Amino acid sequence: MARTHYIAGNWKMNTSKAEAVALAKDLVEQLKGKSNKYMIGVPFVYLDAVAQVVKGTNILLGAQDVAATPNGAHTGEVSTEMLKDIGVQSVILGHSERRHEIGESDELINKKVRRALNEGLEVVLCIGELLAEREAGEAENVCAFQLSAGLAGVTAEQMKKVTIAYEPVWAIGTGKTATPEDAQAIHKFCRDYIAKLYSQAVADEVIIQYGGSMKASNAPELLAQPDIDGGLIGGAALKAETFVPICVI
Ligand code: PEP
Repeated sequence: MARTHYIAGNWKMNTSKAEAVALAKDLVEQLKGKSNKYMIGVPFVYLDAVAQVVKGTNILLGAQDVAATPNGAHTGEVSTEMLKDIGVQSVILGHSERRHEIGESDELINKKVRRALNEGLEVVLCIGELLAEREAGEAENVCAFQLSAGLAGVTAEQMKKVTIAYEPVWAIGTGKTATPEDAQAIHKFCRDYIAKLYSQAVADEVIIQYGGSMKASNAPELLAQPDIDGGLIGGAALKAETFVPICVI
């Protein structure tokens, strides 16, 4: 089944305000009229400035996290209300850096997923195994668990606003990429697992991105796989010259 390619850039904790705005302007210019789906995950403090640049374009504005609760006494948190107020349309949740550096649990990630979806935001739910888990033959089990825990309580209707990003943790920011065949195998596993959780129709439609050192040189082979529908790009998303070539495949 042909699904639209969805390419998202995760800027992580990078750029100055001026660099963020300049990068967004370059992307708007260079992706104008291109037909894939695009999103940029911008640091919270620059979202408002970048919103002015991408508003009304074919680039969705994404945040890299969101609070699990509504506005209130939650020091340091950023709510769905605040994100929507400034034009954010999508949120990256469950990224491995939040799971493993910050210690976010699957339960907390699921609360954030449900909160974001209930508030009408799109979600990119990141899943993926550690190197030790892969070596122990546990990659599929880890992905199955993170899918069922992360999507608990999410309806089939809400799945239209969910993208899954399979990101083997050992491939993120390391220069190591899963082979297209290995990535395809786990993407297919994830799609089949989503069919079990929901239905074949939901599984056929859901976009599953690959993430982990994706760049212009390896993206064509990865994106040619039948169950790899896009990419979540970190390092290569920080410059238009490295991000745009992936976007236009
Ligand atoms: C990511 O941040 O989700 C990621 C895949 O990073 P990189 O492309 O740098 O490996």
